[in-house]
Amino acid sequence: MTKNAIHIKNVQVTEQKDWAAGVTAVMSAYKNVSAKVGPIRGTKLLAQLNQIDGFDCPGCAWPDPLLKRSTFEFCENGAKAVADEATLKRATAKFFAKHSIDDLKQKSDRWLNDQGRLVEPLYLTEGASHYQAISWLEALSLIAENLTKLDSPNQAAFYTSGRTSNEAAFLYQLFVRQFGTNNLPDCSNMCHESSGVGLTETIGVGKGTVSLHDLEHSEAIFIFGQNPGSNHPRMLTSLQAAKRQGAKIVAINPLDEAGLKRFKNPQEVGGVIGAGTVLRDLYLPVKINGDVPFLKGLCKALIERDDAGQDVLDKEFIAEYCHGFAAFKQDMLDVSWPDIELHSGLTQSQINQAADIACTSKKTICCWAMGMTQHKNAVVNIQLMTNFLMLQGNLGKPGAGVCPVRGHSNVQGDRTMGIWEKPSATFLDALQQTYDFDVPREHGYDTIETIQAMAQGQVKVLFALGGNFYRATPDHTATKQALASCELTVQVSTKLNQSHLYTGKSALILPALGRTEIDQQLSGIQTVTVENSMGVVQTSHGKIPPASHLLKSEVAIVADLAALTLPESHISWQQMKNDYRLIRDGIAQVIPGFENFNQRIEELGEFELPNAVRDECKFMTSSGKANFVVHDIESIPVPEGCLLMMTIRSHDQFNTTVYTNNDRYRGIHGSRRVIFVNVDDLEDLSLQMGQQVDIHSHWPNEKIQTRTVKGFTLVQYDIPRGCAAAYYPETNDLIPLSSVADKSNTPAYKSVVISLHKKTDKED
Ligand code: SF4
Repeated sequence: MTKNAIHIKNVQVTEQKDWAAGVTAVMSAYKNVSAKVGPIRGTKLLAQLNQIDGFDCPGCAWPDPLLKRSTFEFCENGAKAVADEATLKRATAKFFAKHSIDDLKQKSDRWLNDQGRLVEPLYLTEGASHYQAISWLEALSLIAENLTKLDSPNQAAFYTSGRTSNEAAFLYQLFVRQFGTNNLPDCSNMCHESSGVGLTETIGVGKGTVSLHDLEHSEAIFIFGQNPGSNHPRMLTSLQAAKRQGAKIVAINPLDEAGLKRFKNPQEVGGVIGAGTVLRDLYLPVKINGDVPFLKGLCKALIERDDAGQDVLDKEFIAEYCHGFAAFKQDMLDVSWPDIELHSGLTQSQINQAADIACTSKKTICCWAMGMTQHKNAVVNIQLMTNFLMLQGNLGKPGAGVCPVRGHSNVQGDRTMGIWEKPSATFLDALQQTYDFDVPREHGYDTIETIQAMAQGQVKVLFALGGNFYRATPDHTATKQALASCELTVQVSTKLNQSHLYTGKSALILPALGRTEIDQQLSGIQTVTVENSMGVVQTSHGKIPPASHLLKSEVAIVADLAALTLPESHISWQQMKNDYRLIRDGIAQVIPGFENFNQRIEELGEFELPNAVRDECKFMTSSGKANFVVHDIESIPVPEGCLLMMTIRSHDQFNTTVYTNNDRYRGIHGSRRVIFVNVDDLEDLSLQMGQQVDIHSHWPNEKIQTRTVKGFTLVQYDIPRGCAAAYYPETNDLIPLSSVADKSNTPAYKSVVISLHKKTDKED
């Protein structure tokens, strides 16, 4: 605690930090690892993290340097993720005999996670109060029985989380498609789906187009709706490298996050005892959902300067590679500065400062995360960022391009492997040709559609390969009811979470090996692969003995389930389980870019996937060119007395996994039930710092027009007027299933109209 801390009930609020990482991060990492894993075992483990012959970080998807790694190739959050997985604590059948489901439902996300590794398969029979141990054969036979008795394969849905390796994901989708459905929702539906949709329409590639080298050699980096200091910490090292090469950094976000202010690199003397490196050159406190008007203002400024003779636009690039420029230009000239200022919350002068930086750069990159992808108009956000880059020819050349930054280690790879409810015909044709069965062609359910289908009785079995489905989704009330109407829900997991408590009529927990653990199969110790945010495929080798001899790898679980569910199948599930190289041979035949997969990873350990935009400046869109798109500014009406709220994650959290109740950089200690509000809004609303409130969200066109979460402490914070922020997943229930992004169906977690009310009773 710093000496100026304010104590409010069970929350202590200290000053917002103006730097990230440094010695504090190192100490926090080692303290965490020592406490959970032990100092010697923990240090040995960290030495293998993100090394070429070590294991890939189970945290975010930030890339490692190609073929050259330092001894400490990880961040505080990567260390926490590893410690969390390698913990010595165990949640055994004895634990579940002691704690009923009702008892466990009273516990927090953090408490559940703290109980340690799940070590044996567990079964919750219909109407039972406790999970009980069950054998693997019984558990998998039960699932197979439930699947085969369905009237249609489409009555089952198969969810995937972003931890799943390429090998497990490929085998899983192969099983699911031979079973007969494309119901393959995944966590990507809830995070970067908007990026995939927006980029595919605009440039014909649904992924980023830059490498780590590009980022470190660009001249300007625009970072939208992203908090890398907490969610992708090693990105700060790359930003520091870019700064040292002379790059300018612009941060566009309603919150001025510590990580983009100053970075104290713990691997440098200056980062340990010095002031560190100032990262951002310009901070723009855009209003929540003010990105479209900001981007229009930025593009307008560039076009107007060019019209005034400044030669700002890359006219040759636009003429040769782009489509729709005339209409786009007219739209930018038509939009008025007062409208831009009103809806973005930024002044023309601030936007002009961003334009100044763009004009001095010949190589510009846009990075973004969920601050851009989880709005109703998220796809428009992505397309306008891309159009901004196209104006100056910043695609298909070194040091320039688009960089969506993914939050889970293999979320991008899982999609590449075919985990998608809307697979392309090309992918399905290749799968059919390679494995010789009639693949289903009808599109399946995404995550939101799966919840709706479960609620309507159209999906009766939910199988989740990792993740925390119940807690990650919006509208916990509806999700809970939807899950309860399933005949069977199955969670493949490493740790206990709320999805094991809000289940179908009966439920199974299947305990899986973690990324850190040795995966021994009949042919020997197995290697798996993942794809990072920048399209590099790399190997991961588990290093420590499994938490229990009863754990199975995700590949083994899928293969054994496939063999039991599809006894007539001609596919050699058991052989692939015995030797993952056979799975990679299949991937090499089906998915372009993976040719000689085994040979390449054996020789190099990693390789870059092809990217038509980056490699050839080729745009595989409907027009054959990069598309400019015209969009109106559609701002969300916020009635008087209301605020627009976004959900955020804390520094001590990885997706739904909560490590502690602290958020060090934002100065919050001891509780996650806080809501950040501007001081002037507090005054206008006659509320005070520290007051306890209930949050109501408002949905005038819905059957349930007001939704409530109770018991939050008001924290006066540096956030634009009219805006508020509160933690995910505690506030997810404020968001109905219908509040999603157009086209991508991603939940709009970051555009919630709320009002604040004096606390009525106990917390939810
Ligand atoms: S930046 Fe992401 S991938 Fe890298 S060590 Fe940290 S959490 Fe892991």
